[in-house]
Amino acid sequence: MSRPSARTSDPATAPRAPVTPLRQYVLKLTSRCDLACDHCYVYEHPDQSWRRQPRLMTPDTVEATARRIAEHATTHRLTAVRVVLHGGEPLLAGAARLATTATVLRRVIDPVTRLDLRMQTNGVLLTAEIADVLVAHDIRVGVSLDGDRSANDRHRRYANGASSHDQVRRALALLRRPAYRSAYAGLLCTVDLANDPLRVYQALLAEEPPRIDFLLPHANWDRPPARPDGATTPYADWLLTIHRRWLADGRPVPIRLLESLLATATGGSTGTEAVGLAPADLVVVETDGSFEQVDSLKSAFHGAAATGLDVFRHAVDEAAAHPGIAVRQTGLAGLCATCRSCPLVRRCGGGLFAHRYRSGTGFDNPSAYCADLAALIRATAVPAGSPQQRPVDTLPPAVLADLGSGRGGPGSVDQLAAVHHGIARALTVALSPAATTDPVAAAGWHLLVALDVSAPDAVDHVLTHPFVRRWAQRCRAGATGDLSHLAAVAAAAAVRAGVDAELVLPVRAGAVHLPTLGAIMVDTDAAAVPVTISGGGVALRAGRRRVRVRPAVGPHPDRWRPTRAAHTGDGTVLLEDTDPYRDCFDLPVAARLTPAVADRWTRQVRRAVDRLDTEAAGYAAGVRALLRAVVPLRPDPSGRSRSAAARSAFGAVAVTPVADDAALAVLLVHEVQHLKLDAVLDVCELFDPADARRLRVPWRDDPRPVEGALHGVYAHLAVADVWRHRPGAEAAAHHRRYREWTDGTVDALLDLGSLTADGERFVRRMRATLDGWR
Ligand code: SF4
Ligand code: SF4
Repeated sequence: MSRPSARTSDPATAPRAPVTPLRQYVLKLTSRCDLACDHCYVYEHPDQSWRRQPRLMTPDTVEATARRIAEHATTHRLTAVRVVLHGGEPLLAGAARLATTATVLRRVIDPVTRLDLRMQTNGVLLTAEIADVLVAHDIRVGVSLDGDRSANDRHRRYANGASSHDQVRRALALLRRPAYRSAYAGLLCTVDLANDPLRVYQALLAEEPPRIDFLLPHANWDRPPARPDGATTPYADWLLTIHRRWLADGRPVPIRLLESLLATATGGSTGTEAVGLAPADLVVVETDGSFEQVDSLKSAFHGAAATGLDVFRHAVDEAAAHPGIAVRQTGLAGLCATCRSCPLVRRCGGGLFAHRYRSGTGFDNPSAYCADLAALIRATAVPAGSPQQRPVDTLPPAVLADLGSGRGGPGSVDQLAAVHHGIARALTVALSPAATTDPVAAAGWHLLVALDVSAPDAVDHVLTHPFVRRWAQRCRAGATGDLSHLAAVAAAAAVRAGVDAELVLPVRAGAVHLPTLGAIMVDTDAAAVPVTISGGGVALRAGRRRVRVRPAVGPHPDRWRPTRAAHTGDGTVLLEDTDPYRDCFDLPVAARLTPAVADRWTRQVRRAVDRLDTEAAGYAAGVRALLRAVVPLRPDPSGRSRSAAARSAFGAVAVTPVADDAALAVLLVHEVQHLKLDAVLDVCELFDPADARRLRVPWRDDPRPVEGALHGVYAHLAVADVWRHRPGAEAAAHHRRYREWTDGTVDALLDLGSLTADGERFVRRMRATLDGWR
């Protein structure tokens, strides 16, 4: 058999390039494994060289490897290197050997460069004793998991066929504990088309990993990827299903392959050899100390990864100069003619080196996944920052500047609405694994997933309701008794979509609640009641009578408590006096209003929003885009007007009854400023979160933390601006007072030294607005 080690079948003819320093080292601490996964490239692919490897790397080999890495880092003045403890299964080495290995690596490498020490494991032997070692030696661990039980059991089993799923999940539960969380690096999942992509995605999310990576199963032109039913791009289709959901969920966790594709779309670097043209910077050190090329080559042919070099006799520079490694450092020049002329080559890079192999032509071919890579790249070719395709994970400088002025045009506030949309969806999605333990919630989840495909607008409308986000946040914080409300969320979306369904809904305070729609009063001690949803209506048995309500139509039976709404031109603001999760402000909320009182409120809200268009146009867009609900508060005993907003109930403003529309307009602007700043802070760091100092502010007796002071000036700046546009001496006096409050605190924030670069720009924009009034 020929032994091609580069893009040609003869290493001597491979293109040479100056040595690129190697920054990543895979150390094979062991060469055996306690699992027998049938997709394993170490044991189940053509390269069987593991058989002649010692079972365990000796301390001498660890020491020699560490010295070679330190020597290379010194020569090339590397600021950091990554060492990944690998196998086989590295935990077979045991806690003591793991600790001594880490000690040697840190003793030799740390004085020379920053050592990022990692481990990749199947997790089944991960105990508290091991986790203590990981934390003590600052080793971050990636765990292999292919999805839920059925997905994981498809390949990741013991030699006797037994499942490893329970053991891995136990290990992940351990890593999630606060004491070990710092050691949890993420999950590695091998794609299998037989597994449902969304179930895999949900199962991985449920483990709360800091990062996920997907691997295409190793294949090449001799052993092509399975393509069931002759599908042309099934791997792209599988990954794009997850990609769509991941984007819709607000990218709740980094997924390396997807982020790499997005990075290549904007010309960024990928940090992976799977896509892009970045030079390879990785070498493997086997248990006997021999240098090998990247592990995945073992899937090509026996001995494919060998270099003939080792840590005892050769420097890392010599390994880096090996043709098989050097060719992967030459970018475009190292690719086959087909790839070099491919319009996608800068984003694709010919895919993973191992996937290009074919007997006879070696690695001088496109990837065996060429069609899938092309489909993935085309589908992810979105313009950077496109709000339709990509949830907001930061704000462009122009948007931040616009919002920093205190005001905010429609484009800017739409970005803030998109931030909320992403967070609200991600919070609900994160509940799905827990929801499966509660039959009422599980049925709701399944309905919601189906509706998300058939009626996404209805789902989004309900999920972005302020008190749905508030409910999801409570559940995330441990209020598992509230999980069944997920069924009510799904029911509300089904009613809005006009989709028929049978569900069981929880009863709370004598009512079945449908977020955004209202509540049906029921006479029952039961914790939940069955309902039938059909034709945009809900039917259930309430006491002795059967009640059917059609929220959009009416007439309404006396047991129906609809959520009243103020129609504000192009939008609707709900009057929330029914939702059970509205009690989240530090002020007491009012009970259900009578129809006459509710009518007064809705008319006043409508007039207050309308008058902003003329007297405070710079704030009207924010109020119209972000205000989803007004919550009536009980009158303050002192007679003062009070108002509040809460980050967890984004989009809601709570207010006491106020005398007139003008006063309500000021309160709405004030509270929506808090919402705007909350959304900005969700994606931009404006100040040092570790700064515990407090500032004296003129509007309160108690000193405020930096965030509190920032919120205060941002709201007061807007209030000063509203009063600036009103006539009369009283308005002028209000304007002066709020402006003075803002003036001094803006300067104090700028002098504090706690603001980030974004924060300083943001606050300087406030300063510019104030100066512009002079
Ligand atoms: S756990 Fe990893 S090394 Fe072990 S058999 Fe499975 S894939 Fe191979
Ligand atoms: S899409 Fe195919 S031809 Fe184009 S660079 Fe990738 S592997 Fe090569």
